[in-house]
Amino acid sequence: VYWVTEGERFSELVGQGFEYSYQVEETIYQGKSKYQKIEILRNPYFGRMLILDGAVQVTERDEFIYHEMLTHIPLFLHPVPKKVLIIGGGDGGTLRRVLEHPVEEAVMVELDEEVVKLSQKHLSSISDSAFDDKRTRLVFGDGAKFVAETKEKFDVILVDSTDPVGAAEILFSEEFYGNCSQILSKNGLLVTQSGSPLCQAKELNKAFGNLRKVFPICRVYFCTVFTYPGTLWSFALGSKELVPEEADLSAIEKRFEKLGLKTKYYTPQIQKSCFILPKLVQEIVS
Ligand code: SAM
Repeated sequence: VYWVTEGERFSELVGQGFEYSYQVEETIYQGKSKYQKIEILRNPYFGRMLILDGAVQVTERDEFIYHEMLTHIPLFLHPVPKKVLIIGGGDGGTLRRVLEHPVEEAVMVELDEEVVKLSQKHLSSISDSAFDDKRTRLVFGDGAKFVAETKEKFDVILVDSTDPVGAAEILFSEEFYGNCSQILSKNGLLVTQSGSPLCQAKELNKAFGNLRKVFPICRVYFCTVFTYPGTLWSFALGSKELVPEEADLSAIEKRFEKLGLKTKYYTPQIQKSCFILPKLVQEIVS
């Protein structure tokens, strides 16, 4: 992936001869951490955008779709999620949605402290007050190392990482999923962002194949994210006991009402329908 921030435009290469191009109204931050290039730009339509190594991570305008779907599907599938682990998620959008549930603790293991610091400073509309919540525990380090070494148990693990290249590659491996399964409770489950079925079919196929080597129940669900390559975006779910299509929608609706969640994309009806896959996705994960 390359980018060309020529003053007034940023382009993300998403496929051969095909790029998403954004007008840059303001360059809020540009720099490099130990791990990656970090840019925060403002676009007239999407608002503030976080870009890591030239790949758009989140924008103020459409972040809710991805964060609601990564979080609410597993946290409503699980009957009583008390302890949640987030791997990655530096912008805080996933953490914020986890904390909308009556969890006891949300542990977030993010490799790059710079991403969190810059997100707190320039993208606070995405994390809202999540980083200050007393249930939040922030750990800076490699998520793969954390799950291999921790003695703690979790009900749900959410992998909100960059795409499977560089430091994030290990987060799509059989070894990582095996370690995650070890630290999940008896009916625990894992969901990972698993990329674009249109532009990253082989990454999705590989990640799902690795998940299936570890978890007895594996599914893919999807949503559409305007600013991600190919727009159609997948999540891969690995579960030790809970079966998505057996979710009790009326019980979930009651929990949803009781929480009074103000979602803009997720509804309890989507809890099951998002698992109905277009043919091209079925073929990639079959
Ligand atoms: N929603 C975005 C997406 O789907 O591409 C991801 C957002 S979040 C900013 C991605 C985070 O994953 C980055 O902050 C990056 O530092 C973090 N990350 C990458 N590899 C990691 C690893 N091995 N352990 C923990 N965090 C990692």
